[in-house]
Amino acid sequence: MPDHDVVIVGGGSVGLLLGCVLRQRGVDAVVHERRVDPDPRSRAIGIHPPGLDALDAAGVGDAVRREALALEGGDVMSRGRTLAAIDFQGDRPVLTLAQQRMDALLRTRLQAQDTDAVQWGSAVGALVDEGSRVRVLTDDGRGAGESTARFVVVADGVHSPLRSALGMRWRRRPGQGDYSMIDIDDADAGDRATLFCEPAGLVESFPLPNGRRRWVVRRRVGDEVETAEGFADTVERRVGIRPEVPCGERPSTFRATQHLADHFVRGRIGLMGDAAHELSPIGGQGMNIGWTNAVRFADALPALDGEGAPDLTTWESGARRAARRAQDRSRFYMAMGMPLPMVAAGGREAVIRALGARSMRRRSADLVTMNGL
Ligand SMILES: Cc1cc2nc3c(=O)[nH]c(=O)nc-3n(C[C@H](O)[C@H](O)[C@H](O)COP(=O)(O)OP(=O)(O)OC[C@H]3O[C@@H](n4cnc5c(N)ncnc54)[C@H](O)[C@@H]3O)c2cc1C
Repeated sequence: MPDHDVVIVGGGSVGLLLGCVLRQRGVDAVVHERRVDPDPRSRAIGIHPPGLDALDAAGVGDAVRREALALEGGDVMSRGRTLAAIDFQGDRPVLTLAQQRMDALLRTRLQAQDTDAVQWGSAVGALVDEGSRVRVLTDDGRGAGESTARFVVVADGVHSPLRSALGMRWRRRPGQGDYSMIDIDDADAGDRATLFCEPAGLVESFPLPNGRRRWVVRRRVGDEVETAEGFADTVERRVGIRPEVPCGERPSTFRATQHLADHFVRGRIGLMGDAAHELSPIGGQGMNIGWTNAVRFADALPALDGEGAPDLTTWESGARRAARRAQDRSRFYMAMGMPLPMVAAGGREAVIRALGARSMRRRSADLVTMNGL
């Protein structure tokens, strides 16, 4: 008899949420996280309505609502003019909250369900699918360990060494760009997001809770956006607003790419979150899709006590389809913020105006709030 129903490799946002949802349903799920301390990186901030549904399923929706900022809407601008303005529905809000806070709430929730539900400092080195169970080989820094599970979910992030060890191929999907970003204090942060789709390249500005704001810029060759001064200069040159980036603070830079694993399930092992699909952060969908696919996985999980591997074909095809569609949307968002010659920028502005037209507004709002994914 295996030690656990489900072992989850990786205590990031997706692994923790899946652990909460499974525990909530009486499944004996344990998370192995190689880190001892929380991930300090500043990454996701956007929670779309399907993501909030997933947080509700994990039992932390209300706690997130209390801490998060609800966006009233967003404006798309270019060359000083508003091209489109979208208002979000109050009953299906888009929220912003730092990923570290969401992870902290999920961690607290999971550990309240069972103090041993997360094994910190426990790196999973290998998985051996023996047909009726999976052996999980771990190392906690003091020595090697081993446990068994009826099913293993690999949610170890975008660079997932286990994914390649399992023979799942990582296929490139269209969409790439280089960006720089910083979160700063801003007493006037308000509750609307602004996307500046400028000929010189995208600038994004998102209000955060507690009087903070995130700025993101698309980098062009030659842009000096790695320093506080250079970042503020670039934003000011493009949109005429100078963010007050504290001297000495360094913006972080990232290259957005997109990938999809060719399989999400092999035998008694499944991939989830960034290990299964990498989405460009532009559009803010990666974590949200990871969460919705995690909840659908919990819904689809059959009784795990039979001899053969569980049939997750329907979940797998649905999860891959949702990820592909979200990647297509992210690719479109990236194209809307690409640097363009002035003449082509005029064509892009016409497209954005059309999407913001009264007759299209509902559909555009659905698009940016991940409706249907
Ligand atoms: C700049 C930026 C902004 C973003 N903004 C948004 C946004 O607004 N909205 C959105 O939805 N998404 C956003 N994303 C994407 C989001 O951050 C990811 O989709 C999300 O973190 C994926 O969660 P995960 O749990 O799959 O992976 P991770 O968060 O990477 O967690 C993986 C975990 O696995 C652990 N691990 C790795 N290997 C092992 C091992 N062998 N054994 C045990 N543990 C292991 C790691 O330590 C880590 O804690 C953004 C990303 C970036 C870079």
